[in-house]
Amino acid sequence: MSRPGPEFHVISLFPEMFSPASLCGVTGKAVERGLVGLTAYQLRDFTGGSIHPVDDSPYGGGPGMLMKPEPVFAAVEQVSSTAPPGVSVLLTPQGRRFGQKAAARLADEKRVLLFCGRYEGVDERIRPLFDEELSIGDYVLSGGELAALVIIDAVTRLVPGALGSDESTSHESFSDGRLEYPQYTRPAVFRGEAVPDVLLSGNHAEIERWRREQSERRTRARRPDLVAGDRSGGVGRGEEPGDD
Ligand code: SAM
Repeated sequence: MSRPGPEFHVISLFPEMFSPASLCGVTGKAVERGLVGLTAYQLRDFTGGSIHPVDDSPYGGGPGMLMKPEPVFAAVEQVSSTAPPGVSVLLTPQGRRFGQKAAARLADEKRVLLFCGRYEGVDERIRPLFDEELSIGDYVLSGGELAALVIIDAVTRLVPGALGSDESTSHESFSDGRLEYPQYTRPAVFRGEAVPDVLLSGNHAEIERWRREQSERRTRARRPDLVAGDRSGGVGRGEEPGDD
C-alpha cells in the first residue's frame, strides 16, 4: 500500500542531524506510522573510497571550499534510481523562496530528494541534476540540513493523518493566504486580560465570523503584502505565486 505522504531522501555530510526528526513530534509520529518516509544518506559514502574528498578549492581563487561534483552526481543518481519517482531539490539561499504553497505541492509527491550543501557551496555543474532549487529565507546558513528539516516539517504536517485532526491545518496561517486569528485557552481571565466574550458564547456562527474578521485584521496589520497580493518584499526570482 502506498504512503499518503512523500518519502524524503536527504543527502548530507551530517545525516545524523535527521535522527531527531525521525523520532520526535509530528514528523517522528508520521514516520513511525508510515505516513512519510525519511532516509538520510552520508555523502562520503558515494566517493568511491574513503580517501576521495568531497570538497576542493574554487577555480579562480577565493575563500573556502566547494563541494565536488562527482560524489554529488553519484549520490543523487543512485538515490533517484532506487527511490520512487518524484522531485529532486537543491537547497540553496539562491533558490526560490519556500512557502506554504510549495509545501502543499511537495506533500503530493511520492518522493522528495533534498540535497544539503556545506562549505562555501557547490560546484555550479551540479545544478542540472535537480528539478528545483529552494531557499528557506534571505540569510545564509552553514549548511542545508536545517533548511531540509524546515521543509520536511512543513510538508509532513500537511499529509493527511499527520496531525491529530485533518482540520488542524485548514485554519492555520497561510493556508488561505491569511494569518491565523488570535487563540485563547483557560483561564478565562489571566492577569486582568479576559478572553473575548464571543469565544465563551457558544454561538458557533458568531465565533466563526469573529475569527474571520480577526484573521483579516491581523493580516492587514502584520502582512499587508498578503492582502494586496504584493509578493515583492524580499521574494526571489521565479517565485511561485502565493509563496512567501
Ligand atoms: N556561498 C553560498 C552563497 O553565497 O550562495 C552559500 C553557501 S552556504 C554557507 C552552504 C550551504 O548551506 C548551501 O550550499 C546550502 O545548501 C545551504 N544554505 C544556506 N543558506 C540557505 C538557505 N537560506 N536556504 C536553503 N539552504 C541554505
